[in-house]
Amino acid sequence: MTLRPTLSTLPAYVPGRSVPGAIKLASNEVPYPPLPSVVDAITAAAAGMNRYPDTFSGALSEALAAKYGVDVARVRVGCGSVSLCTQLVQAVADADDEVMYAWRSFEAYPILTAISGASSVQVPLTDGYVHDLDAMAERITGKTRLVFVCNPNNPTGTAVSRDALVRFLRAVPHDVVVALDEAYREFVRDDSVPDGLTLLDEFPNVVVLRTFSKAYGLAGLRVGYAIAADPAIAAAMAQTQVPFAVTTVAQAAALASLQPAAEAELLERVGRIVGERTRVRDVLVGLGYDVPPTQANFVWLPLGDAATRWAQGAEAQGLVTRAFAGSGVRVTISSVEENDALLRAAESLA
Ligand code: PMP
Repeated sequence: MTLRPTLSTLPAYVPGRSVPGAIKLASNEVPYPPLPSVVDAITAAAAGMNRYPDTFSGALSEALAAKYGVDVARVRVGCGSVSLCTQLVQAVADADDEVMYAWRSFEAYPILTAISGASSVQVPLTDGYVHDLDAMAERITGKTRLVFVCNPNNPTGTAVSRDALVRFLRAVPHDVVVALDEAYREFVRDDSVPDGLTLLDEFPNVVVLRTFSKAYGLAGLRVGYAIAADPAIAAAMAQTQVPFAVTTVAQAAALASLQPAAEAELLERVGRIVGERTRVRDVLVGLGYDVPPTQANFVWLPLGDAATRWAQGAEAQGLVTRAFAGSGVRVTISSVEENDALLRAAESLA
């Protein structure tokens, strides 16, 4: 058996662990189960499982197009937004081309770039753990095909402002695709942080990636979507998609989540998490932790070499967090009760 040499150098994607009996604050999920109306839609869809799904996710794409007032040709539904990231890389980057992103950022970017055969260009975050968009603009070369801007950024929670992003987009040649990864968009409350969809009219090379995994609470079903400025980007992403990638159940659950009453309830839950985010961060800062301002459903503790030890200490107290060795610990904001447990552990480990 001969495997591709690149596999031996690939970093592994480390999923947040589930430890029986422990509180899981490791994967940026919401702590709430799906709404009854969404479970009903899932159950109804299950009755048709002998049939393949609609490979175009037609009804869901139409619903998203209507929600955002865009032509459906600009919408692409995928098996989670991580799949859409992969499809995008495979649509634009050949071997030797470059894919740029900030570092540290979403840990899937280096893996899916390496698998595609393209090269990663990682541009360090600023000292404040924010994308250094000026430095990124300077690093663009004739080989750059794609730039991921993760906004808010996983794992730091920091977000870039409209001014900084527009300045960056004006500096990027329009044949370079810019993916605004907005997996956590619904948690943003800072008005200076742009909704990527408002940039699509001005920048034909931008594609916005969103997901039902986080705010909509459907991480286990795997459904996300892209909205591109240019339908040609969406069409290219369709070409690189695995056939039937989005299951019937996932499509039905996402559609049910977009019903006005369901969506209102889901976004009300998001509001609760946002309130808790403020409370948790304030307490952590009061305990002496450095916690960058966050616009996502998690906080980042830049503990450096102490990260792994801290996460082990938290786990000994029944809390699973996500440590990035030598760098920091990412902790998901959860219910009041679970956050209280986190704060107790943080106090003991401070
Ligand atoms: N982008 C970012 C920034 C993420 O943090 C995640 C989830 N960890 C994803 C994309 C992928 O989400 P999903 O595939 O569940 O839609």
